[in-house]
Amino acid sequence: MIDGGEAVRKLALNIARFTGLAPLAKPFVGGIGAILMLHRVTATPEKPDGVNRHLNIAPRFLDTLVADMKARGYAFVSLDEAIERIEAGGKDGQFATITADDAYRDNMTEALPVLEKHDAPITIYVAPGLIDGSADLWWDVVEDIVNARDRLTLATPKGPVTIDCSTHGRKLQANARLHAYLTLEVREEDQRAVLRDLARSNGIELDGLRSSTLMTWDDIRAMAGHRLVTIGAHTVNHRNLKRLDEADARHEIGDVRRQLQAQLGEEPRHLAYPYGYASAVGCREVGFARDAGYASAVTTRHGVLHAEHAGFLHALPRISVNGRYQSVAHIRTMLSGVTTPLANAGKMVVTI
Ligand SMILES: [Zn+2]
Repeated sequence: MIDGGEAVRKLALNIARFTGLAPLAKPFVGGIGAILMLHRVTATPEKPDGVNRHLNIAPRFLDTLVADMKARGYAFVSLDEAIERIEAGGKDGQFATITADDAYRDNMTEALPVLEKHDAPITIYVAPGLIDGSADLWWDVVEDIVNARDRLTLATPKGPVTIDCSTHGRKLQANARLHAYLTLEVREEDQRAVLRDLARSNGIELDGLRSSTLMTWDDIRAMAGHRLVTIGAHTVNHRNLKRLDEADARHEIGDVRRQLQAQLGEEPRHLAYPYGYASAVGCREVGFARDAGYASAVTTRHGVLHAEHAGFLHALPRISVNGRYQSVAHIRTMLSGVTTPLANAGKMVVTI
């Protein structure tokens, strides 16, 4: 899942595009490559007008994008090779590696055929709790709950609060309000219980709403055996690590290795921090990822890769390819590197 820093990126993108800065800036800020970040890839989203639609791109756009980048000289490599290329200072030319968070089922059914066509590797970051069903894709659940009613009553420690969900605009506000409540006020450990209680107390049957959005373990095992696929770790329960105490955060980062090893027969070498933005991952979490033995860890900070990232392999930025930017021109601008300092207060080498 991705963050609310989109506004800054969009602004940076437009400044860069409208001023024609991108092609001029390329030699100075271009970097050595990029890690692309996907979530969903489907031509038929269940909720095409829903609040989470930005998480999705169409397979046809992925096809166009990869073709365009290849034509402009990008080599599509595995994440292991991308790490080697960073360590070598990018001397073998520009490269890109594709990553996808959360293990959406459409990565297998709709993205993989496109990647096979282009021989482009992908790393899929799996959170076992989401696959087992012991953790929720809560942003999907919130959307379902808000869609199910015109009015919700939320029980808070300060008493019940009524949330108006009667119109499209009100539903957007209700989603934003519940997101803020769940991510800022409720403890990470209690998020699921609060959400379930909200559904139950408003007469909404959650299991009926649950879809087959994510891969099963059988799907993931099949994917793990595919020549183009690397399975990475996305922590055990997809919690905001910064909001956990040290023991819990280390458990989330460390135990996922053991769990994926048990399911797939191999320990993951790469990690993606859940949410990945500044209020979810900082120096402490980067240290935990390093201690746990990962070869790399990615955030959702916006940026291209530079040779200097060899010293920051556990805080690598990515370029988000999402529903908001389904245009090759937009992605070209981002890959030019010009939006990297614009979206990061002047920083060229984005870490955390
Ligand atoms: Zn995620």
